Amino acid sequence: MTNIERHNYDVVVIGAGGAGLRAAIEARLAGKKTAIISKSLFGKAHTVMAEGGAAAAMGNVNSRDNWMVHFRDTMRGGKFLNNFRMAELHAKEAPDRIWELETYGALFDRTKDGKISQRNFGGHEYPRLAHVGDRTGLELIRTLQQKIVSLQQEDFAATGNYESRIRVFAETTITELFVENDRITGCFGYYRESGEFVLFEAPAVVLATGGIGRSFKVTSNSWEYTGDGHALALRAGAALINMEFVQFHPTGMVWPPSVKGILVTESVRGDGGVLRNSEGKRFMFDYVPDVFRKQYAETEEEADRWYTDPDNNRRPPELLPRDEVARAINAEVKAGRGSPAGGVFLDVSTRMPAEVIIKRLPSMHHQFKELADVDITKQPMEVGPTCHYVMGGVEVDPDTEAAAVSGLFAVGEVSGGMHGSNRLGGNSLSDLLVFGKRAGEYAARYADEAARPVKVSPAAVNAAVETALAPLGRGEGGESPYALQSELQQTMNDLVGIIRRRSELEESLARLADLKERIKKVGVGGGRRYNPGWHLALDLRNMVIVSECTAKAALEREESRGGHTREDFPKMDPSWRRVNLVCSLRGEDVQLERKPLPKMRPELMELFDRAELSKYLTDEELAEFDALAG
Ligand code: FAD
Repeated sequence: MTNIERHNYDVVVIGAGGAGLRAAIEARLAGKKTAIISKSLFGKAHTVMAEGGAAAAMGNVNSRDNWMVHFRDTMRGGKFLNNFRMAELHAKEAPDRIWELETYGALFDRTKDGKISQRNFGGHEYPRLAHVGDRTGLELIRTLQQKIVSLQQEDFAATGNYESRIRVFAETTITELFVENDRITGCFGYYRESGEFVLFEAPAVVLATGGIGRSFKVTSNSWEYTGDGHALALRAGAALINMEFVQFHPTGMVWPPSVKGILVTESVRGDGGVLRNSEGKRFMFDYVPDVFRKQYAETEEEADRWYTDPDNNRRPPELLPRDEVARAINAEVKAGRGSPAGGVFLDVSTRMPAEVIIKRLPSMHHQFKELADVDITKQPMEVGPTCHYVMGGVEVDPDTEAAAVSGLFAVGEVSGGMHGSNRLGGNSLSDLLVFGKRAGEYAARYADEAARPVKVSPAAVNAAVETALAPLGRGEGGESPYALQSELQQTMNDLVGIIRRRSELEESLARLADLKERIKKVGVGGGRRYNPGWHLALDLRNMVIVSECTAKAALEREESRGGHTREDFPKMDPSWRRVNLVCSLRGEDVQLERKPLPKMRPELMELFDRAELSKYLTDEELAEFDALAG
C-alpha cells in the first residue's frame, strides 16, 4: 500500500506567487488554519520576476489620475471585453493594496517630495506604476513572505508552534482536486524531492497557480507554468473563459538562442526607449490603430516632448498596448526590416545618460551584459515578441473569486475576466493584491459556513495515486515526455501563435488530439525520488488540455481583438465583443460554449465618450446607451 501523508486545513492555497500569498495572509488574518503549497521553491514564482511595477491610480506623479481614468485605460486595453466589475474593483482598490504593502514593510521608490513614485507604462494615461527600480516583483514577494513570517511568530507566541495556523509546503506539486457532492473536499500531490504523496483535506481551496506560457516554445515564462491550475479547475467541473487571448509581449530577447524569449521589461520603453527597424526608422508611428489615434503622437518631436511635458503632448506610439506593439514588430520582421537575429532594435543608449540607465534599469543592464554581451548604455538591444501572459482563466464571481464549484476559488493569472482580451502592463501585480485579498477573505468565510468534517473518499485517493504512478509503471518503453513537450510547444508556437489562421488552427487541433492520446502512453524510467521526467509526464496532461482550450476558442472567435489576431478576420467585430467563449470538460472532451458578457452598469458606461464607445459597441448597445443618457 502506498504511504500518504495527510493534513487537514480550513483553507488550502495552491500557489505562492503574489496572488497566493496575499490570499493566504487574508485567510490566516480571518483566523483560518491555512496551507500554502508551491510547486517551486518558496519565493520563486513569476511574481518575483515582475520588473516594471504595480499599477494603482494614486495620482502621486500626476494628480489628474484617479480610479475612473485607470478603469477606462483597463477597459480600453482589454478592448472592452473585460469583466467590468473586476476592472472597477481593481481600479478602486489598487491604491489601498499598495499602501497596505508599505505597512507590511515594502519600500517603493520615492518622488522628490517623498511620495511613492509612479512610472509610465503602455496604455496607462498617467504615470501609474509603483515600482522598486526594475525589481518590483521581488520587493512584493519579499514583503508578503515577511508578513507571513511575522504571522507565524505571532502564532508561535500564542501556541508554541510556528506552523500552527499557517504552513508552507514548498516544492510540492498538486495533481488532483477532490470534489464530492459538488463540493471541494481537498487536493492531492507529491513532494518533488522525495516523490512521496501528500493529501490535504479542506473545505476551501484557492487556486493561484499562475499561467500557461510553457506550452509555447518562445516564452518569458519559467518551467512551472504548465497551466496546472487551469486544468485542475476544468477537471473539478469549473469553467475557463477567454482562453483564446494569450499575450505576446513585444519585447523578449531574441539572441543568443539559449535565452530567446526572456523578457525585456516594458519599463525600457516607459523610460524613453524607442523601437527602430533595420533601416533605422522609428516604425511605431505607422502602426497606430484608429481606436487609439487621438491619444498618440504623430511625429517624433511630439512624442519626445511628451516625456518632459505629458500634459501638452500626446504619448509616443512605443507605449501603445502590448498587442499593438507585438503585431507591429512581427510585421516589420516579416517585411524584411528586422534585425540580424530576427527581431527589431530597442534603444535607450541614445536617449539617456549611462548612469541614468544603470540606475533606472539595473536588471536589464545586467541581463544583457551577462547573457548577450551587450552594453545597453552603448548599444541597442535586439528584441521580438514572446509568449508572456494568459488573459484567459477560471471563470469566477468578480466580488468573491468563487468558481462554479462550491469551495473552489481562483485568483491571479489563473483566473479570467479582469483583463479582457489584453492585459495592460502593471495591472497584474495590482490584480494579485486586490483579488488575492478578496479570495482569502471569501475562502475563509466559506470555510466558516462549510459542513464538517471534510473527508476525501479512499476511492478518490486511490484513483489519484494510480494516475500519478502510471508513467512510472510504463517505464522507458512509453512515449518520451521530453519529445511530447517539444512537439506540443512547437505546435502552439507555429499554429496558435501571434497571428492565427483557420487552416492552421484546425491543424493544431488535429495535432493536439494526437498528442492527447500519446500523452496517455507517456512513460519514464527511474523511481519517485527527484525525477524530472516523471514530473513533466504529469504536467503534460495539463498542458495538452489547456492548449486545446486555447486552440478551440481561437478557431471559434472569428475576429481580431487584443491577444487574438486572425489573419482571415483582421477586424474587431462589435458583435463578438458581447461574447465570452467558455470551456468546460465533458469526460475528456473540451466543450466550447458562447455566453453573453455581463452588461456594464450605466454609470460606468458614462465614463466614456459616445464616440469612443461607438468603436466597440453594437448599434443595439449604442441605442441602449443613448436611451439611458436621455
Ligand atoms: P505566479 O507568481 O506565477 O505564482 C504561481 C505559483 O503557483 C508558484 O508558486 C508556482 O510554483 C505555483 N504552482 C503552479 N502550479 C502548481 C501546482 N500544480 N502545485 C503547486 N503549486 C503550483 N506583471 C506586472 O503587473 N508588472 C510587471 O512588471 C510584470 N513583469 C513581469 C516579468 C516577467 C518576466 C514575467 C514572466 C511576468 C511579469 N508580469 C508582470 C506578470 C506577473 O508577474 C504575473 O502575471 C504574476 O506574477 C502572476 O502571479 P500569480 O500569483 O498569479 O502566479
